[in-house]
Amino acid sequence: MIPPSAAVPSRAFVSLIGAGPGDPGLLTLRGQQALQAADVVLFDYLANPELLRHCPQAETIYVGKKGFSEYISQEQISELLVAKAQEGGGRRVARLKGGDVFVFGRGSEEAEACVRAGVPFEVVPGVTSAIAAPAYAGIPVTHREVARSFAVLTGNTKEGGAHYERLSGVDTLVLLMGVRNLDQIAADLIAAGRDPQTPAATVQWGTTPQQRAVTGTLATIAQVVREAGLQAPAVTVVGEVVRLRDTLRWFESAPVLAGPLAGKTVAVTRTREGASALSDVLRARGAQVLEVPLIRFAPAPDLAPVAAALHDFGGWLLLTSNQAVRALWTLLDEAGLDARALAGMKLAAVGPSTARSLAERGLKADFVPSTPGARHLAAELPVERGEATLHLTSQLAEDELERGLSARGVPYTRAELYRTEPAPLDPGTLERLRQADVVTLASGSAARHLAALAGTDFRVAAMGPQTADAAREAGFAQVIVAHEASLDALADAAAAVVEGMEGSGVQDAGRGQTRA
Ligand code: SAH
Repeated sequence: MIPPSAAVPSRAFVSLIGAGPGDPGLLTLRGQQALQAADVVLFDYLANPELLRHCPQAETIYVGKKGFSEYISQEQISELLVAKAQEGGGRRVARLKGGDVFVFGRGSEEAEACVRAGVPFEVVPGVTSAIAAPAYAGIPVTHREVARSFAVLTGNTKEGGAHYERLSGVDTLVLLMGVRNLDQIAADLIAAGRDPQTPAATVQWGTTPQQRAVTGTLATIAQVVREAGLQAPAVTVVGEVVRLRDTLRWFESAPVLAGPLAGKTVAVTRTREGASALSDVLRARGAQVLEVPLIRFAPAPDLAPVAAALHDFGGWLLLTSNQAVRALWTLLDEAGLDARALAGMKLAAVGPSTARSLAERGLKADFVPSTPGARHLAAELPVERGEATLHLTSQLAEDELERGLSARGVPYTRAELYRTEPAPLDPGTLERLRQADVVTLASGSAARHLAALAGTDFRVAAMGPQTADAAREAGFAQVIVAHEASLDALADAAAAVVEGMEGSGVQDAGRGQTRA
């Protein structure tokens, strides 16, 4: 008999990935790698959609089951998982599950479905909310003096509290999926012998900017939760460790929850790659970030000159963006070639990110300047006598590299590999953009693109005086300038916009306060 795996196409593979509890920084490195390699991503309600920025290449499918209203059954998810893996010549599927894969989320059923279908799979464990949500509320689940064991239980069980007596020797209890039935569960635990005065805490949306936590005792926690209006997703911790929250609270006073940008939406306009570093800085200060790409890439209308320039080229290939690397590979691929076609050339990357793009394709950059940027690349490139340079770039390439190299007497040729053009904004993004509290602009071209695509009725934070001038010229009336050209300073400027807005009492009249 033919084993089931013999029928499975070669690339078919499923990564069952624990997405962590919410904070996108709590994804594991292996989880990130699996996302980067994915053709298809299936993600949950509890897996932070921000994680999808690790897989812009992938088809993404939302398969959330929110609360009890099931949009899609577990069986359907398992079927879809296997079907997606077997599609075409076989695809790499990343299945992002909230928290850890095997803590309640029915991950084992999905793994079993893979086994049945003969689809190879891996499990990438994640940071479970059972430990992380208490930790972000300042509650350790164990403590040398206070708690030497903990148990994680589900409040969503049909057998009710029948097994609670068996937990009587466990110091800390962590309850998942238990907000709805908290009254009953607390009563059952007390009936099973747990002291009603045991401290208890409930943490909603732990590790995210929406985190809220309340404390009480086993006897009171259900009522406290109801009064505070906390709902799923939340974990409840029962045990002496809850007292430690008084001294160990940290996240709730961190900038992400208490900073000026906490709960505000900041739109980050992008006219090239690399804007996600700014998004990270803003998120660390509590902002909800809306990334708005204002440009998109297209192949150069005529690729024959690039192909000709590359043919038999033996000098330095200059790559000054990730997009250049990507477009180069498309070009090779379409010509039926691969990286070996570059064998006789030396590769220079403008910075570590571009070097990484090469590394992802199995090639090591021969040179990366000490500081990223065209100026440093031009000054430091270790050209030997007679070596030529070929710059693969877009129609918008700046002259800096050419000027620097020419000044050193190094032959420079430019070939247009791709084009940068304004990206139309889809209506959904436009709508969300209009609701943003601040829009950041990192360049004059971002200001002009934004004005052309969405108008000028925005409060903007500009990266520097030139960008600010360009923004005013483009018609923006409310502009705040970063005090220096750094991401931190731009985030400060965004915060100043927000503070100004609240101080004026105009946009935020609900507060009833007007400052002179
Ligand atoms: N596999 C997940 C749990 C899935 S069950 C994990 O390891 O975390 C879903 C339950 O997890 C929710 O009902 C809630 O109890 C808990 N949960 C998930 N994310 C949470 C979060 N950010 N804050 C609080 N509870 C969370």
